[in-house]
Amino acid sequence: MRLRNVPGSREMIAEHPLAVKNPEEHKGCWSEVFGNENPIFLEIGMGKGQFLTTLALENPNINYIGIEKYSSVLVRALEKCEELELPNIRFIRMEAEYIENVFDNDEVDHIYLNFSDPWPKDRHAKRRLTSERFLHRYENIMKRDGVVEFKTDNDDLFAFSLEQVPIAEWTLIAQTFDLHNDDKLAEGNVMTEYEKKFLKLGHPIHKMIIKKD
Ligand code: SAH
Repeated sequence: MRLRNVPGSREMIAEHPLAVKNPEEHKGCWSEVFGNENPIFLEIGMGKGQFLTTLALENPNINYIGIEKYSSVLVRALEKCEELELPNIRFIRMEAEYIENVFDNDEVDHIYLNFSDPWPKDRHAKRRLTSERFLHRYENIMKRDGVVEFKTDNDDLFAFSLEQVPIAEWTLIAQTFDLHNDDKLAEGNVMTEYEKKFLKLGHPIHKMIIKKD
């Protein structure tokens, strides 16, 4: 998601209490940021944050952190949260590649990847958030039984992602090529902004749930 440049967005993020500055300084002590020991769930590439704010409202005993690389998108999430006054959500503007600088081993319980950038060219495969390289980064910050949930409408990215699971020595827990016609996986599904958009266009939504072997 790339919105036009929003003037002042960097300044707004710099001043906003929910946008964590210097996130590396909290590595190993994110529970102090929230003031409790509740589990930590991430969404990487959260866009305007609708999915994560919905989850944060529904689950007050889980701490949510949204990661997004573009400030022009992140400001939209911050604006949305201002009305909600949620104690259990924070945001980080960063490139996900550096996630191990920000979270310590065993610090994260769960990761959501929703409609991640497809990077269709082969030579960019390493940038895909479900590539082997990224799965290894996730396993370095997640608890032993931590789970990654991934949704996309992109056939090629989904096929690639399914292939990466055994290569990275992860396990496929569940998968569907048509989430909205899969009674079991559709139960409790929280829609993201992109999901609504693609569903309206008639694209089936694919989903996989995976964990480290
Ligand atoms: N999850 C949202 C947005 C999907 S668009 C939804 O489903 O509606 C993908 C988002 O991921 C974009 O906002 C993009 O800027 C962000 N993104 C892509 N690659 C990223 C990376 N490597 N690090 C951080 N954010 C990333």
